[in-house]
Amino acid sequence: MESRAVPKGTRSGNELIDRVGKEVREAFLREARRMSLAHDAQLLSQGESVRRVYFPVTAVLSLTVGLSSGERSEYCTVGCEGLVGVSALLDRESLGYVTVQIPGDAWVMEAGAFRRLRDRHAALGEAVFGFVLYAMRFAAQAGLCNSFHSIDQRLARWLLTVHDRLSADEVHLTQESLASMLAASRPRVSEAAHRLRAVGLIEYHSSRLRIVDRRGLEAVACECYARTRLP
Ligand SMILES: [Zn+2]
Repeated sequence: MESRAVPKGTRSGNELIDRVGKEVREAFLREARRMSLAHDAQLLSQGESVRRVYFPVTAVLSLTVGLSSGERSEYCTVGCEGLVGVSALLDRESLGYVTVQIPGDAWVMEAGAFRRLRDRHAALGEAVFGFVLYAMRFAAQAGLCNSFHSIDQRLARWLLTVHDRLSADEVHLTQESLASMLAASRPRVSEAAHRLRAVGLIEYHSSRLRIVDRRGLEAVACECYARTRLP
């Protein structure tokens, strides 16, 4: 990939990259390219070799695993705090599917360039490892949540999780994608959304969902939200 000069002090907008220090950040920005990701675009498929690594800036990505029968369940939500495609560091295949849940920008880096950058900068490897630990905790909690908590609690948790990674209160969401995120049927998700709307926590019209009362959603959400909340 063509190298280019990076103005001193430039921040990437991805918090993981911006935390590891100026030298790493400038090296990263010389190798990565920024691109817009469209809603519902699938960036990685389960089992495919990972050729690119994505560092969201304003986009929010959904990581899911799927069954051979087609059902999927989300195990992690990733925004500007992290990255997806970490399997590339070990030249391994993708653990699951990566889909753009909220459209926006991300930095994209070829897998080989990312491995070389990690080899040159131990601080980047440590930051990635820290994020992987967070993602493992998130995935474990998501499994517990889907098994033991009500659909209303899970919907509230998911909306807060996405809201933490957004700069807006309104998102475009279909009931189909919500059902996949929450490992529930569309009718159950629809009923839960109606209940949250009826008590004034959200507005929901034609796939546009707006968070009206964040504190109210926090009161409905289960403990899983606090356990996976960004620091
Ligand atoms: Zn829960």
